Amino acid sequence: MAADDIPNEALPAHSVAEAYLYLQFASCGKCGKSPLQADGQLTRGKQFFELPARCKSCRDATMLVFDIQPEPSRQSAQSKVINATSEPSQLIDVHGWLAMFQQIISASGREQDAVASRELVEEAAACLDEALKFYRDDSEIPSPDAFFTDAGRASFRKSPERYTRATWMRRRLQLPVDPPALPMAATSDKRWWQFWR
Ligand SMILES: [Zn+2]
Repeated sequence: MAADDIPNEALPAHSVAEAYLYLQFASCGKCGKSPLQADGQLTRGKQFFELPARCKSCRDATMLVFDIQPEPSRQSAQSKVINATSEPSQLIDVHGWLAMFQQIISASGREQDAVASRELVEEAAACLDEALKFYRDDSEIPSPDAFFTDAGRASFRKSPERYTRATWMRRRLQLPVDPPALPMAATSDKRWWQFWR
């Protein structure tokens, strides 16, 4: 695909993992529904990274274009680390991260295999850590710009109490997973976001 054909501006992502997770929240340009699913591999284009995707509902094909910073290496592209910075995501809002946390933690409870279950708990914790980045200066509610999707804004208007920081901090402390430190090297070849495909 030539650069001129790219319909949208590049989407800002912190990692390859975050770019793939965004598929859950991206909406179809044709029918407006979410999610999209990957329809090929993420590849480096001239300037940005390109991921062919397809609408799960109407099957319309599109090309998502990501500006991934820091630039992914072969190793970091395999890593589970979603965002090694303290900046909140610009792709998935606080509502999206909390929804993913709840889905994955439920899946971990249903998983029979102990190792797989533990991996899901770690993935859920990573989503919750991303959500917590939206609480600036330990504020009890997320900053207003933490809700940048229609679904997020609607959810906050309906149940603002759902977004109390103390609730999610408590939940985070219950998880048997250390808080994030420095970026980790990939520990396996499994790309955990494939869970979502
Ligand atoms: Zn569609």
